[in-house]
Amino acid sequence: MDLDSTPKRLSCSECGETIADTGYLPAAEGETGYEPRPDAAVCDACGFNEIGMQGCAPELDDVAESGAADVLLYVRRTDDGLEVLSSKA
Ligand SMILES: [Zn+2]
Repeated sequence: MDLDSTPKRLSCSECGETIADTGYLPAAEGETGYEPRPDAAVCDACGFNEIGMQGCAPELDDVAESGAADVLLYVRRTDDGLEVLSSKA
């Protein structure tokens, strides 16, 4: 499944840095694709070190308020938008 809409800018909700490469993006499952929740996105570094267990990817519950999203997407920014690399519920 692809993203329903691509957020133009993605900033880390922890450190405020723009996510220019890879990061974590919570999303709800919609009819045509994932509906991203860019407000709760986190960058790789914060996800790994601040939110997830040291050296582990964060869980959905660590990033999004419960009920606000169905899956946690690991995304990479490309020239065309965001590519979903993996997802976990
Ligand atoms: Zn960050």
